[in-house]
Amino acid sequence: MKKLYKNFDIKAFLDDEGVEYWEHGKNVGKDYIGIQCVFPTCTDTSNHLGINLKHKGFKCLACEETGSLSVLLKQILHIKSIWYDFIPLLQKYQLDDYYIEDKPKKKKRKKSKILPPEFEYLKKKKLPPLVYNMLRDRKLSLRIIKKYSLGWCQFGDYPLHLIAPIFYNDEIVSYMAMDLTGKTSPKYQICPNDVSHIIKDDILYGVDGLSKDMEQLFICEGLVDKWKLGKEAIAFFGKRFTANQLYSITERVSPKTIVKIILDSDAKKEADILSLNLPAYFKNIFVVSLKKGDPANLSKKEISRIKEVEA
Ligand SMILES: [Zn+2]
Repeated sequence: MKKLYKNFDIKAFLDDEGVEYWEHGKNVGKDYIGIQCVFPTCTDTSNHLGINLKHKGFKCLACEETGSLSVLLKQILHIKSIWYDFIPLLQKYQLDDYYIEDKPKKKKRKKSKILPPEFEYLKKKKLPPLVYNMLRDRKLSLRIIKKYSLGWCQFGDYPLHLIAPIFYNDEIVSYMAMDLTGKTSPKYQICPNDVSHIIKDDILYGVDGLSKDMEQLFICEGLVDKWKLGKEAIAFFGKRFTANQLYSITERVSPKTIVKIILDSDAKKEADILSLNLPAYFKNIFVVSLKKGDPANLSKKEISRIKEVEA
């Protein structure tokens, strides 16, 4: 019975009864719709009677009449009997899905099985000094921690490594590990193919952030480059690329998007090869040559200049 009330499709009912309702705007709170008060003594001429979409109780902000759904239904349907049976009416107007409680239940981030067992999510307020220093040295904002769901490992196969999960359709399908000590070689390692859901030859870092309405797309080499260049950037894992990786970009980006290839300064040849191998899908492809270093070393100013350059 309680479910029948909770799941009552109040909007469909009001539609059928010809009662106008407001879903937003003045007098209408979150999770409420507003109607003109239906109680005879009320002076309301607008939408002061709010109906809660979750429990379906109501309250008028003008006359302060308040009560449960059945009280309101009686008033709208002009029913006097206290014995009136609402069940058939409630059954007639049931939502397909139970109203989803959208209270931000503190969702505990479930750790993906792909991530190393020692993986811990990083917290902005309790950053290990090694991570903090790495971000500071590269002039990266602390915001990237949450934005890219970064974590780290203290022990295990990746001791003192930052771990950047690689997402595809909101799911962690792989990860990159980055040495934080400056003492381990190679500095970057990618999740082994027998653990990842998508092997490294088929995935790029940052694809989930791409969208069809993007004006430009940056293709860069590594994690830090990608974090620096932002949402519009994707990273390979080094200078190598595969046809599958290139093809996967076309699924996410419009052909009108201007593609700017921005590899490290020592990779001019690779950048040219990449530009020639990008699918014909893209009409505007440019190589941005850096005089020295890699995109990770660029200042904010330099990055915005690169973004502004009309291709
Ligand atoms: Zn009222």
